[in-house]
Amino acid sequence: MGDDEPAAGALPYAEVTDEAYAARAAAGFAVREFEFAVQLSGRCPRCDHSMTSTLVDGLYRRDASVVASDPDYRTVLCECEADHPARPLGLRGCGAHWTLRLEVEA
Ligand SMILES: [Zn+2]
Ligand SMILES: [Zn+2]
Repeated sequence: MGDDEPAAGALPYAEVTDEAYAARAAAGFAVREFEFAVQLSGRCPRCDHSMTSTLVDGLYRRDASVVASDPDYRTVLCECEADHPARPLGLRGCGAHWTLRLEVEA
């Protein structure tokens, strides 16, 4: 796998975030909303590999018992399929994470 990945050298795994990640991801990611999940697909703003992330949880759903005065902010992790050195076993992606604001329509 990964024949079409950019040959930018081996970017080591690192759990990092940057405000620019969120901006780039917001601009470049496709968002599909399902009833109880949101699927994001695009290129990781750190490693530039294509990735798909599915967010599933109850927080996304509107719950009358939760005071939700703020928009929904969710943490998205890079889940690319490429190899990144120094990545712990069992994890995927390059370690980049960023915050996504989900704009949920009423
Ligand atoms: Zn990657
Ligand atoms: Zn990445």
